Amino acid sequence: MTDRFTLQDPRHQYPAPPFPPQPQRPPGLAGKMEPPPDHGEQSYAGFGRLTERKALITGGDSGIGRAVAIAYAREGADVAINFLPSEQEDAQDVISLIEAAGTRGFALPGDVSEEAFCRELIASAVQKLGGLDILVINAGRQQTRPSVDQVSSDDFDKTMKTNLYALHWLAQAAVPHLPPGASVITTASIQAYEPSSHLLDYATTKAGIVAYTKALSEQLIKKGIRVNAVAPGPFWTPLQPSGGQPRDKVETFGQQSAFGRPGQPVELAPVYVLLASQEGSYITGEVFGVTGGKGIA
Ligand code: NAD
Ligand code: MG
Repeated sequence: MTDRFTLQDPRHQYPAPPFPPQPQRPPGLAGKMEPPPDHGEQSYAGFGRLTERKALITGGDSGIGRAVAIAYAREGADVAINFLPSEQEDAQDVISLIEAAGTRGFALPGDVSEEAFCRELIASAVQKLGGLDILVINAGRQQTRPSVDQVSSDDFDKTMKTNLYALHWLAQAAVPHLPPGASVITTASIQAYEPSSHLLDYATTKAGIVAYTKALSEQLIKKGIRVNAVAPGPFWTPLQPSGGQPRDKVETFGQQSAFGRPGQPVELAPVYVLLASQEGSYITGEVFGVTGGKGIA
């Protein structure tokens, strides 16, 4: 277990490349990653910042969403997670971790690239949780394609639906339920600012998420609701070995960052906690970069 509170050189706090080859089919499973990502299972300590809050997290089974789910539960929130049915195994681990934190966890599987499901998801979350005051829109599709002619219309459509349309459908359905003090958090990416040539469709959606988040924040602060985005750099999650990167790039993933290693999902959790909690009371319309030193300006 890594001690997250002891003074230490952050470059050496977690594993650095080379990593073993580990191709998976999308959406991939956290349980199959080597080395296993740190989602805070052993290391995240909560301080009651989200006591009795009601949170829904899309993509809450693995990676960044799992780290956020664990942190929110340990901060005292009841947490519903959405994921694809093929990720049930990862999701079950997260539900057990939420329950071990002493709060309630709900598994709400389904495909957010479908409008009807997005509306159902908000309705089920509100019903199970008894309301909704934190919405983390985090599910994402990332599939590398080396050149423009290889991004099929089907690819383009799936990426737009999963990353952008779902954001709109979920936000639209949730707004009537959100009380003053509620927080909406989206997951953008450094790709919004420094797009990679092999992620044409994905980078486009991430720039769209930044714009949508800022625009929505202006509307919702009039209801006392804050809306912010997090823009991660390279994080060690199943998104990458399941088609998010070219296969050989997984072995050196994160090497180019100033830290010489990828971030671990738990290293993002404190930012999502701050944005969700009342401690973030003056923060809205912002994009928080956690990029590994590159910045988002
Ligand atoms: P991840 O694979 O652990 O999480 C992505 C999740 O999206 C999956 O677990 C899956 O449940 C969900 N998902 C995908 N398609 C879906 C669909 N159609 N319906 C429902 N759920 C679906 O990987 P992650 O890296 O934790 O990704 C979380 C977010 O972080 C994504 O939006 C991703 O774009 C973003 N992000 C990741 C990185 C990184 O380096 N890992 C960097 C920047 C941004
Ligand atoms: Mg997953």
